[in-house]
Amino acid sequence: MGKNIKNFSDSVIVKYSEIHGSGIFTTEDIPAKAPILIIEGDVISTDEAVRRECEEGNVYIFWNGDVCIDTVRSEKIKYINHSCSPNCRVLGRSKKSLKLVSIGKIQDGEELTIDYAYDEIYEHCNCSKCSSKRSVQEKQIL
Ligand SMILES: [Zn+2]
Repeated sequence: MGKNIKNFSDSVIVKYSEIHGSGIFTTEDIPAKAPILIIEGDVISTDEAVRRECEEGNVYIFWNGDVCIDTVRSEKIKYINHSCSPNCRVLGRSKKSLKLVSIGKIQDGEELTIDYAYDEIYEHCNCSKCSSKRSVQEKQIL
């Protein structure tokens, strides 16, 4: 009873990632389905998001229903990397914020990842999941 809802944001650190550039990592064990971080930033329209992506090369924008959240000035969440087998996912929280939640248990020291869900990523990805998905698609075409 009275299970503590703990926020793990203080245990999240930014450091060099073997996936890409900088990544975010946990410095303690995180249980399954636990809220980790609140995702906040400038709330902008989808048109403005597309403009910032194209003109400014801003890759730190999260979609939130019919608006977007630009996290470029955030300290941590903007560094989260993509994985096709992620250990976190993004859930809605409010119009102005999203939350990062663990999927399964995450161990102290692990990098936190989400699935960016861009087709271009899957097309060029060499992980076993994407490679096998591509080979199934090729067989279907033949
Ligand atoms: Zn992949």
